[in-house]
Amino acid sequence: MEFRTFPTMSYLLPTYANFPLTAVRGEGARLWDSEGKSYLDFCAGIATCSIGHCHPALAKAISDQASTLMHCSNLYQVPQQKELARVLVEDFTQIPGKVFFANSGAEANDGMIKTARRFGHAKPNGKGEPRYEVITFNSSFHGRTLGSMAATAQKKVHQGFDPMLPGFRYVPLNDLDAIKAAISDITAGIMLEPIQGEGGVNSATAEFLQGVAELCDEHDLLLMLDEIQCGLGRTGTLMGWQSIYPDLKPDTISWAKGLGGGFPIGAFYVSDRAIDEDETPLSSLMNAGSHGSTYGGNPLACTAALVVLAEIQSSNLCANANHQEKRIREEVTSWNHPAIDSIRGKGLLLGFALNTDNLEYPDGAMPAGHLCKTLMAEGLLTVPAGPETLRWLPPLNVTDDEVGEALRILKNTLDSLSIKMNTAH
Ligand code: PLP
Repeated sequence: MEFRTFPTMSYLLPTYANFPLTAVRGEGARLWDSEGKSYLDFCAGIATCSIGHCHPALAKAISDQASTLMHCSNLYQVPQQKELARVLVEDFTQIPGKVFFANSGAEANDGMIKTARRFGHAKPNGKGEPRYEVITFNSSFHGRTLGSMAATAQKKVHQGFDPMLPGFRYVPLNDLDAIKAAISDITAGIMLEPIQGEGGVNSATAEFLQGVAELCDEHDLLLMLDEIQCGLGRTGTLMGWQSIYPDLKPDTISWAKGLGGGFPIGAFYVSDRAIDEDETPLSSLMNAGSHGSTYGGNPLACTAALVVLAEIQSSNLCANANHQEKRIREEVTSWNHPAIDSIRGKGLLLGFALNTDNLEYPDGAMPAGHLCKTLMAEGLLTVPAGPETLRWLPPLNVTDDEVGEALRILKNTLDSLSIKMNTAH
């Protein structure tokens, strides 16, 4: 397609401070820009292109479905939606429950938050008042809608949008005492990313997840997981929490990003567990008329997601994520590099915590952003996670050679930006 050459940003709201790169083509972990320059893509749409760019099976399935039926409405039966829900519940979550399909992560989280409110109405407090408050964690990121933004415990996300939707309480991650102090007779749930992505690649500990589950049991609260960035193979297990504490039994889970491999789709799961002595399933609270989406779960999006999930399973991409993590950790650790303090995360959701005292970056610039920019010039796309963490999120089928090339580029770039290295030379 030819584009007329108006000034490119003129008609777009400037909500993204984006890089001057125009991507025109992708294949696997590789991306090409409009100048013909090739990049290794370790950003992958921020954990979205889970099976690589333009995977032939995904492209073909989308093309075939697009010429058969794209959309028909949830007023009718959608077999692709039923099958996708079955795969997510039986093969991936492996805990009985039901799924609702949306179009993005923020929407999926809104649905999950609505589920907590329904639960709080169904199980009111001792005074007969509905419970509605959800405890979330500092540095979390849950999205940009009014609900998911209020769930996000980051001031910079809220700035200028007050008043926030009421019903959220923020506490530090991995601090069970802070949760205990925050629980009150209006609390309905605890919502967290098992590994925070945007907030800096911060992992919950196994003890913490176990403690959260116990507090949810004790106080009759929903355990709500946002697996939008860390789920579906990204951390080397099918579910993100399984890479930390496999015994966890969440009540609700949200997915998006990697689920569609680049095709927009979001989803949330609600467990079938009984919430009372009458054996009322939690999932039954989201009954007819309680929620909806015009586009959510359309045949095209569900077909795409079915291919992605089949590929994650049949090509054992969890094993590849673990293999590549091990290799990356071993090699980066062996550098003992003055600009890297530690490596956080699991599988292919990895954060390199930068020692910014040993890194050169322009005054006023964000260190991780400057490093990303420099890596981009060298042909490696990455993404910051906060000001001092460099994040790698390559496709789950990234190869040994591609990881080797990315490691070479990272090492050379860090050497060139490292103060200690440069003064030692
Ligand atoms: N939750 C998490 C953990 C995310 O990382 C994101 C996006 O970065 C979202 C929710 C929001 O997803 P979306 O941008 O699809 O609305």
